[in-house]
Amino acid sequence: MMPVPLLTKDQINRLPERAREVVEYRKSGLSLNHIQGCPLGCAYCIRHTYGLWDENQPRALMTDAAAVDELVNHRYFQPHVTPIQLFNRATEPFLPKVRPHTFAVLEDLDARELTNHVLVISRHQMKPYDIERLNQLRHVKVTLLFTYSGIDNPKIEPYPSQVAADSLKLMSAPELRKYRTVLYWRPLVPGLNDTDEHLDAAHSLSKHADATVFTGLFYRDQIAAYYKANGIPEPYEDTARRKIVPETLERRVLDAFSGSSALFRKTSCAVSYAHGLPDYNGHYGIRELCDICPLSQLEVCAGAHRVPAREDIHQIARVLPEADRLRVVDITERAAVVTGLAVEQPRYFLQHALGFQVHDARHPHHANRHGRADIGWKDKTSS
Ligand code: SF4
Repeated sequence: MMPVPLLTKDQINRLPERAREVVEYRKSGLSLNHIQGCPLGCAYCIRHTYGLWDENQPRALMTDAAAVDELVNHRYFQPHVTPIQLFNRATEPFLPKVRPHTFAVLEDLDARELTNHVLVISRHQMKPYDIERLNQLRHVKVTLLFTYSGIDNPKIEPYPSQVAADSLKLMSAPELRKYRTVLYWRPLVPGLNDTDEHLDAAHSLSKHADATVFTGLFYRDQIAAYYKANGIPEPYEDTARRKIVPETLERRVLDAFSGSSALFRKTSCAVSYAHGLPDYNGHYGIRELCDICPLSQLEVCAGAHRVPAREDIHQIARVLPEADRLRVVDITERAAVVTGLAVEQPRYFLQHALGFQVHDARHPHHANRHGRADIGWKDKTSS
């Protein structure tokens, strides 16, 4: 019997369209979400953005075996190359009921001798048993990212951050382990969790992790509406497409972490570093991102940095029908700029296949902003 109940066809048909898509490309990897629903109730949860907020118990859209089949046969999946994210959109992978599914998927991928990165983001309590079970995986490169914010307002995070902090310590403690750990310090929100004490606490915690990444709040209209409806003070006047980390807060974070050598602005950088590999998103081209990176890692990324030719990009895109109108409008040391892609997913496919940044001409990236929102940044010069 499946630990999480399987939805019927009719129930699945009634779900919002995006929820029915169990394999979806997101920035840090191809994401597998055949289980959806979570009781933890974080106010800023991504589920708000696609109509699943009321689903507070996990439900399965298909079996684990069917889901893994769908993933590895997906047109975006490249064995050993495509980074995978497991249950990062709509549930918590280490909820007691979801945990057997998380292990089943990892073990299925491992039995196929796939060496892809697999990112598992959690804030849940972990057990010593989890160390043993994860240590049995031989091929997949697993990274556990522990979401920690230090926010103590139960209206925003009913499930306390301290649990994730303890899990990070537990899972990082063994000297010999096959998987890596990342302190996923987010969301960092001015006025909520950015006092000097908060920054110091995160810094102390980061010493346990293989790497730390800090990011702002993913703040879209639906989440703003939730804040309003629940009487939670809104951190920003405006909402934005990208994550928000105002400039002054970033400076204070860097100061608090000065002398520490494994702090990153990008999830893929932290994950890649933790495995001793070059950043799979090719951020090395965006030079100002790398000023906080350890020298040894800079060398690893520099060694892997290749600026692709136009033909390379077209060649890779040929397998994607949705990229038949692709045009490469510019290629620099930083990124390839393209047009003709109606949605973002094929862009991530190209980016991971090339290990090089691919930007959409419709969303220009700004210098020193690292793909973040404009709110809180003074200089808006385009790069
Ligand atoms: S060198 Fe740059 S791209 Fe590579 S991991 Fe460090 S910050 Fe990321």
